Amino acid sequence: NLYNMVQDLKGNIRVYCRIRPIFNAEATTVVDLIGEAGSLVIVDPSKPQRDGRKMFQFNRVFGPLATQDDVYMDTQPLIRSVMDGYNVCIFAYGQTGSGKTHTMSGPSGELTKDMGINYLALNDLFELSNRRKDIINYEIHVQMVEIYNEQVRDLLAEDSASSRLEIRSCTSDGGLSLPDATMHSVQSTADVLNLMKLGDMNRVVSSTALNNRSSRSHSVLTVHVQGKDVSGSILRSCLHLVDLAGSERVDKSEVTGERLKEAQYINRSLSCLGDVITALAQKNSHIPYRNSKLTLLLQDSLGGHAKTLMLAHLNPEADSFGESMSTLKFAQRVS
Ligand code: ADP
Ligand code: MG
Repeated sequence: NLYNMVQDLKGNIRVYCRIRPIFNAEATTVVDLIGEAGSLVIVDPSKPQRDGRKMFQFNRVFGPLATQDDVYMDTQPLIRSVMDGYNVCIFAYGQTGSGKTHTMSGPSGELTKDMGINYLALNDLFELSNRRKDIINYEIHVQMVEIYNEQVRDLLAEDSASSRLEIRSCTSDGGLSLPDATMHSVQSTADVLNLMKLGDMNRVVSSTALNNRSSRSHSVLTVHVQGKDVSGSILRSCLHLVDLAGSERVDKSEVTGERLKEAQYINRSLSCLGDVITALAQKNSHIPYRNSKLTLLLQDSLGGHAKTLMLAHLNPEADSFGESMSTLKFAQRVS
Protein backbone atom coordinates (compact mmCIF):
# COMPACT_ATOMS: atom_id res chain seq x y z
CA ASN A 1 0.00 0.00 0.00
CA LEU A 2 0.90 3.63 -0.29
CA TYR A 3 1.96 4.00 3.34
CA ASN A 4 4.50 1.22 3.01
CA MET A 5 5.80 2.60 -0.27
CA VAL A 6 6.35 6.00 1.27
CA GLN A 7 8.02 4.51 4.34
CA ASP A 8 10.28 2.31 2.23
CA LEU A 9 11.56 5.43 0.55
CA LYS A 10 12.17 7.09 3.89
CA GLY A 11 13.78 4.10 5.56
CA ASN A 12 12.52 2.20 8.53
CA ILE A 13 13.06 4.70 11.32
CA ARG A 14 10.56 7.39 12.10
CA VAL A 15 10.29 9.84 14.94
CA TYR A 16 7.13 11.44 16.31
CA CYS A 17 6.87 14.05 19.04
CA ARG A 18 4.07 14.32 21.59
CA ILE A 19 3.61 17.42 23.74
CA ARG A 20 1.64 16.83 26.92
CA PRO A 21 -0.89 19.36 28.26
CA ILE A 22 0.01 21.86 30.98
CA PHE A 23 -1.68 21.05 34.28
CA ASN A 24 -0.44 23.93 36.38
CA ALA A 25 -2.51 26.98 35.49
CA GLU A 26 0.37 29.31 36.35
CA ALA A 27 2.89 27.65 34.08
CA THR A 28 3.71 29.04 30.67
CA THR A 29 4.39 27.00 27.57
CA VAL A 30 7.61 27.29 25.60
CA VAL A 31 6.58 24.95 22.79
CA ASP A 32 4.48 25.94 19.77
CA LEU A 33 3.16 23.81 16.98
CA ILE A 34 3.59 25.41 13.63
CA GLY A 35 2.46 24.98 10.05
CA GLU A 36 2.54 21.40 8.90
CA ALA A 37 1.82 18.59 11.34
CA GLY A 38 5.52 17.76 11.58
CA SER A 39 7.25 20.78 13.06
CA LEU A 40 7.41 22.64 16.32
CA VAL A 41 9.13 25.70 17.71
CA ILE A 42 10.65 25.88 21.16
CA VAL A 43 11.46 29.21 22.77
CA ASP A 44 14.26 29.65 25.28
CA PRO A 45 12.56 31.47 28.19
CA SER A 46 15.85 33.06 29.25
CA LYS A 47 16.38 34.84 25.94
CA PRO A 48 14.60 37.76 24.30
CA GLN A 49 11.72 36.44 22.17
CA ARG A 50 13.17 36.30 18.66
CA ASP A 51 16.65 35.08 19.56
CA GLY A 52 15.70 31.98 21.47
CA ARG A 53 13.46 30.32 18.89
CA LYS A 54 14.47 26.94 17.49
CA MET A 55 12.55 24.79 15.05
CA PHE A 56 12.53 20.98 15.00
CA GLN A 57 11.11 18.62 12.37
CA PHE A 58 9.51 15.25 12.97
CA ASN A 59 7.57 12.77 10.92
CA ARG A 60 4.62 13.85 13.02
CA VAL A 61 3.94 16.16 15.98
CA PHE A 62 1.02 15.67 18.39
CA GLY A 63 0.03 18.74 20.39
CA PRO A 64 -1.44 18.88 23.89
CA LEU A 65 -4.95 18.34 22.52
CA ALA A 66 -4.14 15.16 20.64
CA THR A 67 -6.03 12.13 21.93
CA GLN A 68 -4.79 8.58 22.46
CA ASP A 69 -6.71 7.63 19.31
CA ASP A 70 -5.01 10.39 17.31
CA VAL A 71 -1.63 8.99 18.29
CA TYR A 72 -2.73 5.44 17.64
CA MET A 73 -4.02 6.30 14.16
CA ASP A 74 -0.50 7.11 13.08
CA THR A 75 0.98 4.07 14.82
CA GLN A 76 -1.50 1.52 13.55
CA PRO A 77 0.13 0.83 10.15
CA LEU A 78 3.31 -0.23 11.94
CA ILE A 79 1.43 -2.41 14.38
CA ARG A 80 -0.44 -4.05 11.55
CA SER A 81 2.74 -4.83 9.67
CA VAL A 82 3.67 -7.16 12.55
CA MET A 83 0.92 -9.46 11.28
CA ASP A 84 2.68 -9.54 7.90
CA GLY A 85 5.94 -10.68 9.44
CA TYR A 86 7.75 -7.44 10.24
CA ASN A 87 9.50 -6.93 13.56
CA VAL A 88 8.59 -3.60 15.09
CA CYS A 89 9.95 -1.56 17.99
CA ILE A 90 8.16 1.41 19.51
CA PHE A 91 9.91 3.52 22.16
CA ALA A 92 8.58 6.23 24.43
CA TYR A 93 11.42 8.65 25.24
CA GLY A 94 11.40 11.73 27.48
CA GLN A 95 11.96 13.09 30.95
CA THR A 96 9.93 11.78 33.89
CA GLY A 97 6.46 13.32 33.85
CA SER A 98 6.45 14.04 30.10
CA GLY A 99 3.73 11.47 29.32
CA LYS A 100 5.55 8.29 28.24
CA THR A 101 3.47 5.94 30.37
CA HIS A 102 0.31 7.81 29.41
CA THR A 103 1.08 7.16 25.74
CA MET A 104 2.10 3.52 26.12
CA SER A 105 -0.20 2.25 28.89
CA GLY A 106 -2.73 4.95 29.57
CA PRO A 107 -4.32 5.17 33.00
CA SER A 108 -3.26 1.99 34.73
CA GLY A 109 -5.33 -1.09 35.36
CA GLU A 110 -8.87 -0.38 34.29
CA LEU A 111 -10.42 -0.24 30.89
CA THR A 112 -11.05 3.41 30.12
CA LYS A 113 -11.46 5.54 27.07
CA ASP A 114 -7.83 6.61 27.36
CA MET A 115 -6.13 3.26 26.77
CA GLY A 116 -2.63 3.58 25.42
CA ILE A 117 -0.74 2.03 22.53
CA ASN A 118 -0.04 -1.27 24.31
CA TYR A 119 -3.68 -2.08 24.71
CA LEU A 120 -4.84 -0.61 21.39
CA ALA A 121 -2.11 -2.51 19.56
CA LEU A 122 -3.06 -5.87 21.03
CA ASN A 123 -6.71 -5.14 20.40
CA ASP A 124 -5.85 -4.48 16.78
CA LEU A 125 -3.78 -7.65 16.47
CA PHE A 126 -6.66 -9.75 17.81
CA GLU A 127 -9.02 -8.09 15.36
CA LEU A 128 -6.75 -8.75 12.39
CA SER A 129 -6.13 -12.28 13.52
CA ASN A 130 -9.85 -12.87 13.67
CA ARG A 131 -10.45 -11.28 10.29
CA ARG A 132 -7.84 -13.51 8.66
CA LYS A 133 -8.69 -16.69 10.52
CA ASP A 134 -9.80 -18.57 7.41
CA ILE A 135 -6.42 -18.16 5.75
CA ILE A 136 -3.94 -17.83 8.63
CA ASN A 137 -4.00 -19.24 12.12
CA TYR A 138 -2.29 -16.76 14.45
CA GLU A 139 -0.98 -17.36 17.94
CA ILE A 140 -0.14 -14.38 20.13
CA HIS A 141 2.07 -14.51 23.21
CA VAL A 142 3.37 -11.75 25.45
CA GLN A 143 6.33 -11.24 27.76
CA MET A 144 6.91 -8.28 30.02
CA VAL A 145 10.26 -7.40 31.53
CA GLU A 146 12.00 -4.47 33.08
CA ILE A 147 15.64 -3.47 32.76
CA TYR A 148 16.99 -1.86 35.90
CA ASN A 149 20.69 -1.18 36.45
CA GLU A 150 21.51 -3.43 33.50
CA GLN A 151 19.59 -6.35 35.01
CA VAL A 152 16.59 -7.88 33.29
CA ARG A 153 13.67 -8.83 35.50
CA ASP A 154 10.59 -10.85 34.56
CA LEU A 155 7.48 -8.82 35.39
CA LEU A 156 5.10 -11.72 34.82
CA ALA A 157 6.82 -14.34 36.97
CA GLU A 158 5.68 -15.61 40.37
CA ASP A 159 9.08 -14.76 41.81
CA SER A 160 9.33 -11.55 39.85
CA ALA A 161 11.23 -9.59 42.48
CA SER A 162 14.15 -12.01 42.56
CA SER A 163 14.21 -12.95 38.89
CA ARG A 164 17.34 -12.36 36.84
CA LEU A 165 17.02 -13.10 33.16
CA GLU A 166 19.78 -13.85 30.70
CA ILE A 167 19.56 -12.47 27.20
CA ARG A 168 20.42 -15.13 24.65
CA SER A 169 20.42 -14.79 20.94
CA CYS A 170 18.72 -17.73 19.39
CA THR A 171 17.52 -16.24 16.15
CA SER A 172 17.04 -19.72 14.69
CA ASP A 173 13.82 -20.13 16.64
CA GLY A 174 12.32 -16.81 15.82
CA GLY A 175 14.56 -14.32 17.57
CA LEU A 176 13.41 -15.21 21.03
CA SER A 177 16.06 -13.45 23.05
CA LEU A 178 14.67 -14.06 26.54
CA PRO A 179 13.97 -17.78 26.51
CA ASP A 180 13.47 -17.91 30.27
CA ALA A 181 10.99 -15.07 30.60
CA THR A 182 7.43 -16.10 31.35
CA MET A 183 5.47 -16.30 28.13
CA HIS A 184 1.71 -15.95 28.29
CA SER A 185 -0.64 -16.94 25.55
CA VAL A 186 -3.27 -14.23 25.06
CA GLN A 187 -6.60 -14.59 23.31
CA SER A 188 -8.43 -11.44 24.22
CA THR A 189 -7.92 -7.90 25.44
CA ALA A 190 -9.22 -9.06 28.83
CA ASP A 191 -6.21 -11.42 29.07
CA VAL A 192 -3.96 -8.54 28.16
CA LEU A 193 -5.45 -6.19 30.77
CA ASN A 194 -4.90 -8.80 33.48
CA LEU A 195 -1.28 -9.31 32.49
CA MET A 196 -0.62 -5.59 32.38
CA LYS A 197 -2.08 -5.23 35.83
CA LEU A 198 0.18 -8.01 37.11
CA GLY A 199 3.22 -6.47 35.43
CA ASP A 200 2.45 -3.02 36.85
CA MET A 201 2.00 -4.50 40.31
CA ASN A 202 5.31 -6.32 40.16
CA ARG A 203 6.97 -3.09 39.10
CA VAL A 204 5.56 -1.16 42.01
CA VAL A 205 6.45 -3.80 44.61
CA SER A 206 10.13 -3.16 44.28
CA SER A 207 9.93 0.62 44.43
CA THR A 208 10.18 2.63 47.62
CA ALA A 209 8.81 6.04 48.49
CA LEU A 210 12.17 7.61 47.82
CA ASN A 211 12.78 5.75 44.66
CA ASN A 212 10.02 5.61 42.13
CA ARG A 213 11.60 2.77 40.28
CA SER A 214 9.16 2.84 37.39
CA SER A 215 10.80 6.00 36.13
CA ARG A 216 14.30 4.59 36.69
CA SER A 217 13.87 1.42 34.65
CA HIS A 218 12.96 0.53 31.09
CA SER A 219 9.85 -1.59 30.73
CA VAL A 220 9.48 -3.77 27.68
CA LEU A 221 6.26 -5.45 26.62
CA THR A 222 7.02 -7.95 23.88
CA VAL A 223 4.31 -9.42 21.68
CA HIS A 224 5.26 -12.56 19.77
CA VAL A 225 3.14 -13.36 16.76
CA GLN A 226 3.19 -16.65 14.94
CA GLY A 227 1.03 -17.25 11.91
CA LYS A 228 0.52 -20.51 10.05
CA ASP A 229 -1.18 -20.43 6.68
CA VAL A 230 -3.15 -23.17 4.96
CA SER A 231 -0.07 -24.47 3.17
CA GLY A 232 1.59 -24.93 6.56
CA SER A 233 4.21 -22.26 6.16
CA ILE A 234 4.97 -20.29 9.27
CA LEU A 235 5.57 -16.61 9.79
CA ARG A 236 7.06 -15.24 13.00
CA SER A 237 7.50 -11.68 14.15
CA CYS A 238 7.54 -9.62 17.25
CA LEU A 239 6.54 -6.22 18.51
CA HIS A 240 8.43 -4.51 21.33
CA LEU A 241 6.61 -1.74 23.18
CA VAL A 242 9.10 0.12 25.33
CA ASP A 243 8.47 2.66 28.07
CA LEU A 244 11.99 4.00 28.64
CA ALA A 245 13.47 5.24 31.89
CA GLY A 246 13.25 9.02 32.38
CA SER A 247 15.89 10.79 30.29
CA GLU A 248 16.50 13.64 32.75
CA ARG A 249 20.11 14.32 33.58
CA VAL A 250 20.82 14.22 37.28
CA ASP A 251 23.24 16.68 38.73
CA LYS A 252 26.19 14.53 39.73
CA SER A 253 27.18 16.92 42.47
CA GLU A 254 23.86 16.34 44.20
CA VAL A 255 23.41 12.60 44.11
CA THR A 256 25.42 9.78 45.58
CA GLY A 257 25.29 6.03 46.05
CA GLU A 258 22.39 4.08 44.55
CA ARG A 259 20.84 7.10 42.92
CA LEU A 260 24.05 8.00 41.13
CA LYS A 261 24.56 4.42 39.98
CA GLU A 262 21.00 4.31 38.61
CA ALA A 263 21.51 7.57 36.81
CA GLN A 264 24.71 6.39 35.22
CA TYR A 265 23.09 3.16 34.01
CA ILE A 266 20.19 5.09 32.54
CA ASN A 267 22.35 7.68 30.82
CA ARG A 268 24.55 4.99 29.38
CA SER A 269 21.74 2.79 28.09
CA LEU A 270 19.83 5.70 26.55
CA SER A 271 22.93 6.91 24.81
CA CYS A 272 23.63 3.36 23.56
CA LEU A 273 20.11 3.29 22.16
CA GLY A 274 20.79 6.61 20.44
CA ASP A 275 24.05 5.24 19.04
CA VAL A 276 22.35 2.15 17.64
CA ILE A 277 19.52 4.04 15.99
CA THR A 278 21.91 6.65 14.60
CA ALA A 279 24.18 3.92 13.21
CA LEU A 280 21.16 2.27 11.59
CA ALA A 281 19.92 5.54 10.12
CA GLN A 282 23.38 6.18 8.66
CA LYS A 283 23.53 2.60 7.39
CA ASN A 284 26.84 1.97 9.15
CA SER A 285 28.32 -1.49 8.80
CA HIS A 286 28.89 -1.84 12.55
CA ILE A 287 25.87 -1.44 14.81
CA PRO A 288 26.85 -1.35 18.51
CA TYR A 289 24.02 -3.54 19.86
CA ARG A 290 26.17 -5.16 22.51
CA ASN A 291 26.85 -2.00 24.47
CA SER A 292 23.68 -2.24 26.58
CA LYS A 293 21.12 -4.82 27.69
CA LEU A 294 18.35 -2.81 26.11
CA THR A 295 19.82 -2.78 22.61
CA LEU A 296 20.95 -6.39 22.91
CA LEU A 297 17.45 -7.43 23.88
CA LEU A 298 15.90 -5.54 20.98
CA GLN A 299 18.59 -6.45 18.45
CA ASP A 300 16.33 -8.54 16.21
CA SER A 301 13.80 -5.77 16.01
CA LEU A 302 16.17 -2.92 15.26
CA GLY A 303 17.69 -2.74 11.82
CA GLY A 304 17.32 -5.12 8.89
CA HIS A 305 13.71 -5.13 7.77
CA ALA A 306 12.47 -4.12 11.19
CA LYS A 307 10.56 -0.91 11.69
CA THR A 308 11.31 1.52 14.48
CA LEU A 309 9.25 4.34 15.91
CA MET A 310 10.59 6.73 18.53
CA LEU A 311 7.97 8.78 20.35
CA ALA A 312 9.71 11.77 21.90
CA HIS A 313 7.73 13.29 24.78
CA LEU A 314 7.83 16.90 25.93
CA ASN A 315 6.58 18.69 29.00
CA PRO A 316 6.05 22.14 27.43
CA GLU A 317 6.43 24.14 30.66
CA ALA A 318 9.16 26.77 30.86
CA ASP A 319 10.75 24.97 33.82
CA SER A 320 11.41 21.95 31.63
CA PHE A 321 13.08 23.90 28.83
CA GLY A 322 16.50 22.33 29.40
CA GLU A 323 15.19 18.76 29.43
CA SER A 324 12.96 19.46 26.44
CA MET A 325 15.95 20.72 24.45
CA SER A 326 17.89 17.61 25.32
CA THR A 327 14.96 15.38 24.25
CA LEU A 328 14.64 17.31 20.99
CA LYS A 329 18.35 16.95 20.29
CA PHE A 330 18.23 13.23 21.00
CA ALA A 331 15.27 12.86 18.66
CA GLN A 332 17.00 14.88 15.96
CA ARG A 333 20.09 12.73 16.24
CA VAL A 334 18.15 9.53 15.55
CA SER A 335 15.91 10.88 12.77
P1 ADP B 1 6.12 9.64 32.39
O1 ADP B 1 5.71 8.22 32.20
O2 ADP B 1 6.85 10.20 31.21
O3 ADP B 1 6.87 9.88 33.66
P2 ADP B 1 3.30 10.06 32.78
O4 ADP B 1 2.75 9.34 31.59
O5 ADP B 1 3.22 9.36 34.07
O6 ADP B 1 4.81 10.52 32.49
O7 ADP B 1 2.57 11.48 32.82
C1 ADP B 1 2.63 12.33 33.93
C2 ADP B 1 1.22 12.81 34.27
O8 ADP B 1 0.67 13.55 33.21
C3 ADP B 1 0.27 11.65 34.51
O9 ADP B 1 -0.62 12.02 35.55
C4 ADP B 1 -0.47 11.52 33.20
O10 ADP B 1 -1.73 10.95 33.36
C5 ADP B 1 -0.52 12.94 32.70
N1 ADP B 1 -0.46 13.03 31.23
C6 ADP B 1 0.63 12.82 30.47
N2 ADP B 1 0.39 13.01 29.18
C7 ADP B 1 -0.91 13.34 29.08
C8 ADP B 1 -1.79 13.66 27.98
N3 ADP B 1 -1.35 13.67 26.70
N4 ADP B 1 -3.07 13.97 28.27
C9 ADP B 1 -3.51 13.96 29.55
N5 ADP B 1 -2.75 13.66 30.61
C10 ADP B 1 -1.46 13.35 30.39
MG1 MG C 1 6.26 6.57 33.40
